[in-house]
Amino acid sequence: MDIALKGTSIIGFTRGRETEDTFTAFDPSTGQAIEPTFHSATAEELDRAAHLADEARIPFGNLPGRRRATFLRKIADNIEALGVTLVERASLETSLPNARFEGERARTCGQLRMFADLLDEGSWVDARIDQAIPDRKPIAKPDMRSMLRPVGPAAVFCASNFPLAYSVAGGDTASAFAAGCPVIVVGHTAHAGTAELVGIAVANAVKECGLPEGTFSLLFSSGYEIGQSLVKHPAIKAVGFTGSRRGGRALMDIAAARPEPIPVYAEMSSVNPTFILPSAIKERGDAIVAGLHASVTGGVGQFCTKPGLVFVPGEDVAGEFKTRFRELISSTQPSPLLTAGIQQAFRSSSDHRRAEVSGYAEHNGDRLSGFAVNPSVFETTAVEYLNTPDLNEEIFGPTTLLIRAQEHEDLLNIARSLEGQLTASVHGTEEDLREYADLIRILETKAGRLIFNGFSTGVEVCPSMVHGGPYPATSDGRSTAVGTRAIDRFSRLVCYQNFPDAALPDELKESNPLGISRMVDGKPV
Ligand code: NAP
Repeated sequence: MDIALKGTSIIGFTRGRETEDTFTAFDPSTGQAIEPTFHSATAEELDRAAHLADEARIPFGNLPGRRRATFLRKIADNIEALGVTLVERASLETSLPNARFEGERARTCGQLRMFADLLDEGSWVDARIDQAIPDRKPIAKPDMRSMLRPVGPAAVFCASNFPLAYSVAGGDTASAFAAGCPVIVVGHTAHAGTAELVGIAVANAVKECGLPEGTFSLLFSSGYEIGQSLVKHPAIKAVGFTGSRRGGRALMDIAAARPEPIPVYAEMSSVNPTFILPSAIKERGDAIVAGLHASVTGGVGQFCTKPGLVFVPGEDVAGEFKTRFRELISSTQPSPLLTAGIQQAFRSSSDHRRAEVSGYAEHNGDRLSGFAVNPSVFETTAVEYLNTPDLNEEIFGPTTLLIRAQEHEDLLNIARSLEGQLTASVHGTEEDLREYADLIRILETKAGRLIFNGFSTGVEVCPSMVHGGPYPATSDGRSTAVGTRAIDRFSRLVCYQNFPDAALPDELKESNPLGISRMVDGKPV
């Protein structure tokens, strides 16, 4: 499908103005600007989008789940109908191959349809009913019924590293829509064209499904002002964000300082510690080294789940493993990072780290163009690592840190020192799992997902997935950004006391007209 990009925001059913505050996306392989010019939304446009969302709050939030399911499926259909136009634009704005976006589009549409299935089934609302006991002594027990209801309009920030799966119609938007929340998206400057295409697909779905105009808006912005003003807007009741710790923290602080503080679900930084135990290296060192290399360099190392800290045994066991890993990294061609800012951060963090560790190897020999960087590997010891807190910091891009740590007690001390993580991985045998049970107990307190004999990249989208973790991995370690439980972030509990049946939501009516699973008088029914 051929669509001419306008470069203006989408405010409900209208387009924003061609303002003088402009920006462009860039081709990361050359560093050159890409057409068209994008225009930042004005404060008035933001206000209009927020008021429309506020108006849509009650009608959209009270639609039967099945109608919201139809809407989510329509968005997925419209995204697929964009065909190669979408894939090629995303590839142009990121320098990642078309195949990556064919996969990411499938994930994005799969997520939307997964939430549609959840809504069709309907039990996600966690309906609980406690029947009245009028003659209970000493006081009568009232009829109590509760369920999850939408929290209200949500602001969603696009992620630089997932132009489809964590952007305009990505996981945060899908889960907020599923919960019944209107959404206002802030486009990422790096892939504004991709955002506009998907924004058109969503806006068309709103119209085609006969939904309120304020169900969806997309705002473009050359800087931080529009995003920050949106988080401050009284109509906004929750925020979804994926990006840097600094950006996420800034939005958390703004949200907490509002007269009415609101929740921010920010996914920020994780170094995904990976523990490779001696037995694993002895048994299948070659396979692990190849898997580790693919995990560190896949997507040019720009996954939030990239293994950034890898603990290996001493030289006698891991010497060959490390040599092979260094060789693989040194022979990996440089590729462009997503933005000039990410390239700059990679270079300055790498320079800083080189001064802090004893070992370093990188690919070199090529002239770097655009936003390209050389893949690299750093090395240090358990003692150096424990004495240098900076080594815990995420470097976004194709690099990792190998740490020699053989002693059981060293591994426990290291695990205790870790910040909150999205994932932690252990490579070993089942016997190791028993021997290192104390390590696992510590890692459970640090990470949202524990992986055995696998790599942290490659996030399965399914109901049991947990893509979350204690701060600073996320702003709220009780939640997940992937999987059907993500809907909980945009819902809140409401209890109805002594309401007549006709005035209750269908989910709580006595006859259970939707046939959902409920808890009645403390028992699942
Ligand atoms: P970012 O700088 O945090 O930006 C993400 C989005 O938030 C962008 O739209 C950005 O606006 C906006 N933003 C950033 N700081 C803000 C603030 N203080 N107030 C209002 N809005 C703000 O992240 P990025 O550009 O994607 O990448 C930079 C770094 O983020 C990477 O080097 C990496 O360390 C980290 N990152 C982590 C993950 C993860 O999943 N954990 C994913 C991506 C990036 P602009 O578009 O105007 O910049």
